[in-house]
Amino acid sequence: MDDTEFRRRGKEMIDYIADYLKHIKERRVTPEVEPGYLRPMLPKNAPEKSETWENIMEDVERAIMPGITHWQHPRFHAYFPAGNSYPSILGEMLSAGVGIVGFSWAASPACTELETIMLDWIGRMMALPAGFLPFDPSRDNKDSDDDEEDDEELCSESDEESRDDDLHDSISNGENNHGQKSTRHIGGGVLLGSASECILVAMLAARTKKITSKRQADPLMEDGQILARLVCYTSKLAHSCVEKAGLIAMVRVRQLAVDEHFSLRGKTLEECIRADKEKGLIPFLVSGTLGTTSCCSYDNLEEIGEICQREKLWFHVDGAYAGSAFICEEYRYIMKGLQYADSFNTNPNKWLLMNFDCSCFWVRDKFALINAMSVDPLYLQHKHAQKAVDYRHWGVALSRRFRSLKLWFTIRSYGIEGLRHYIREHCRLAKVFASLISMDNRFETIGDVTLGLVCFRLKGSNKLSQKLLLSLNDSGLIHMVPSMVNDIYIIRFAVCAKHANDDDMRIAFNIIQEHADDILAEYRAQRG
Ligand code: PLP
Repeated sequence: MDDTEFRRRGKEMIDYIADYLKHIKERRVTPEVEPGYLRPMLPKNAPEKSETWENIMEDVERAIMPGITHWQHPRFHAYFPAGNSYPSILGEMLSAGVGIVGFSWAASPACTELETIMLDWIGRMMALPAGFLPFDPSRDNKDSDDDEEDDEELCSESDEESRDDDLHDSISNGENNHGQKSTRHIGGGVLLGSASECILVAMLAARTKKITSKRQADPLMEDGQILARLVCYTSKLAHSCVEKAGLIAMVRVRQLAVDEHFSLRGKTLEECIRADKEKGLIPFLVSGTLGTTSCCSYDNLEEIGEICQREKLWFHVDGAYAGSAFICEEYRYIMKGLQYADSFNTNPNKWLLMNFDCSCFWVRDKFALINAMSVDPLYLQHKHAQKAVDYRHWGVALSRRFRSLKLWFTIRSYGIEGLRHYIREHCRLAKVFASLISMDNRFETIGDVTLGLVCFRLKGSNKLSQKLLLSLNDSGLIHMVPSMVNDIYIIRFAVCAKHANDDDMRIAFNIIQEHADDILAEYRAQRG
């Protein structure tokens, strides 16, 4: 393909995508294919000779589209939203076009610097504790005549800072493995590929930190002996990626019970830590959640945070979905206690209109990451390493995509105001849907509807709701997934579509009601 053809095909592709999204509701939400459907539709071997673009595009409709689950469909209510917007798609296109691999500052300075700035922007949009924000001389030496909003934010940031200093006076020793001096701000953010990766990275950093401090306290102890005794705590409703991170990091993960609001409480954590310490185990990490996947519940960060501070445990907070809501002031009450966290993640690729992949991860002490993950071969070194950020030390991967472009395009195109409107609409629509559910006394909602997720079920046995969901998903008209909270089977209804509206809520509810009629009629018939 030469540049002339690329211009032509590129424009056609934009048309294809725009048409796909415009007419998406004419398709079934979920595909009807069986595993292995694609192999017989494609040749066994790659083509020896080049094929025409027309042929390739024909095969998209013939072979690929029948196997697509349409996540952007207005009747897609499964999981959490898959972020998508035109500015983000175009940002991804430019990222692919410039084709850089940004593992170090020198590998493409704009890639690193835009990423740092975007994490700072988003951190401030969400009013995260100041300890997570990177050092910014212009902000920190600001004149008092700056605009009102900034003054307000700075004011709360400096409040946070004094709290941070109390909480984290132990970490600012000013030196990392490479002898770099730290400034007073040693926090910052990075873009990683997924929330799972953020949680793994937090765990690896916490693990190294604990092993190092134990070894310093008792030089006769070997790393392996300490590792075998490490324990991480999380709730039963935390995402399974915490358990998986534990498998990779080779540490125990305790999944603790939640209260009647599906929240992990301090007392539960405290008792478990006490019992583990009595057994000679070494607690090192708590992974709390704001907005669990199961039912969008929130762990009690204040209670947990105080314990982490007292016990010197790393406190990670996973806000993969709910974090985006913090750009709206009215939802910030949810993050009460986040000032105790050592690290925090949220996925703009879920609920901030960014295409996958785009996970934001902030830490208070970037040296904890660098200490756990930096290696420095000659071919990656560069002359600005002392002054610049090298994100390859902040995560597992070396090569990194130019992900921040889509953030930059999308945030600027929508403005924070536009993004807030999008979040608020989803939260409003969830309430509309919940009120429809509550008007039909065959159903009940489970848990609070705070953001864009409604959990509901048919009153009665778990089996009934299970049958209902099976029937709904088989119909291809709507797609939802289940969850189990405190032994109750629930159906999760997430508001996902970018332009979801009141009609979509009513249509979804009508489909659910019709299927419930059939399920309940069948149930009554069986019981005679
Ligand atoms: N944490 C929470 C609360 C989630 O809801 C999810 C996924 O839905 C994850 C973590 C895992 O996200 P990822 O797919 O980005 O690893």
